[in-house]
Amino acid sequence: MVHFVGAGPGAEDLITIRGKELLEKADVIIYAGSLVNPGLLKYAKEGCEIHDSAKLTLGEVVEIASGACEQGKDVVRLHTGDPSIYGAIREQMDAFDELHISYDVTPGVSSFCGAAAALNLEYTLPTVSQSVIITRMDGRTAVPEKESLEALSEHESTMVFFLSAGDTKRLSERLIAAGRRPGTPCAIVYKATWPDEKKFRCTLETLPEVAAENGIEKTALIIVGDVVEPSEYEKSKLYDPGFTTGYRKGTDS
Ligand code: SAH
Repeated sequence: MVHFVGAGPGAEDLITIRGKELLEKADVIIYAGSLVNPGLLKYAKEGCEIHDSAKLTLGEVVEIASGACEQGKDVVRLHTGDPSIYGAIREQMDAFDELHISYDVTPGVSSFCGAAAALNLEYTLPTVSQSVIITRMDGRTAVPEKESLEALSEHESTMVFFLSAGDTKRLSERLIAAGRRPGTPCAIVYKATWPDEKKFRCTLETLPEVAAENGIEKTALIIVGDVVEPSEYEKSKLYDPGFTTGYRKGTDS
């Protein structure tokens, strides 16, 4: 059987207990070497076969995993963050379905949560933004036209850009041209939760400069929106003494 496991954003102790236990039992581990903390491999048992998928094609990953499964072995496919976000797992699952190989998924802490933690940030502040758009800028991989950053930015929701740190100039120029104010608060977080994490608050206008000055071109997230530097917001209803909930009687009833 193949277990897709989310490794978490970087720090070794941010993998789930279930994920760690699956690593300990695995006969074969195929990990995304470009982003997964290699420190997690210390959980592998002796004799475990380990492959770095950064050097492999989809066909090779499937071949290694299916070969192991045919021998009754347990395979962990270790993905960075949560496997469901830019994890390219659907294509692996489809290949395993064709081969009648069973699999399951253990979620992980996505890097966008790691970045929020690094910044002490709440993505969903009442009256500021109640939605988070997780997206990427188009590059070598296209983005559906309806999801262009111009189209998405119309909502003025909080935006988190994955896979886009290589061209912060274009990202900033396009968002400003689409109508976001140049002073919109932004943050760029490099290797959130890793020991060499770097984080900077800036504005949409200063983002390219801040990224260049600090040599950030990859393994970073860009967060755009007033939640990064909120001037004012309303407190949540949930803890408002006047608000009755299913668990607490408020002064409103
Ligand atoms: N599944 C992963 C994302 C994989 S796509 C997740 O849930 O986080 C790879 C992109 O994720 C990188 O280019 C970068 O934009 C982002 N990323 C992954 N780990 C990161 C980290 N620790 N800090 C900042 N960005 C990270």
